[in-house]
Amino acid sequence: MTGLGLSESKVQVDPLIACFRCGVCCTEYQVNLSLTEGQRIADRLGLAWGEFLNRYVDKNWPGIKNFLLRKRNGACVFLERMEGSKVTRCRIHAFRPSSCMDWVPSLYRRECQGGLAKYWGLAVSPPGQLKGSTENVREFCDLLESLVTCNPQDLN
Ligand code: SF4
Repeated sequence: MTGLGLSESKVQVDPLIACFRCGVCCTEYQVNLSLTEGQRIADRLGLAWGEFLNRYVDKNWPGIKNFLLRKRNGACVFLERMEGSKVTRCRIHAFRPSSCMDWVPSLYRRECQGGLAKYWGLAVSPPGQLKGSTENVREFCDLLESLVTCNPQDLN
């Protein structure tokens, strides 16, 4: 990341930010997956298809060739958040559904801005500057640095 003035409470960052795992999109939306995707995930979890349906699929959805993942505690059934933590963990990150893989985080997305505000106390100005207390900005930038230098596999 370039141009960070960590002693200030405003920093310029690339709007195409790495996913900082706030979990807002995994909470707001309910993931639709195809039969093939569902079977692939069941295989990776080592579950029989019926068991997968029982545990992870929303029984209120009438689909036969596509499904909705269940929600638990208001979020995707695969989302985990440690008590008091600002970041979440997807239990199937390495083989998550395509709609999750296709999600492009951005400083200009409403969901990402919601996560920044809720968990980090940060706002985004129109030119793409993060604004907040120096402590919060510094802590968030440290997280961003670690996310871009580590393999997504490491996040599981
Ligand atoms: S499968 Fe993983 S990435 Fe997709 S919504 Fe659920 S927790 Fe989020």
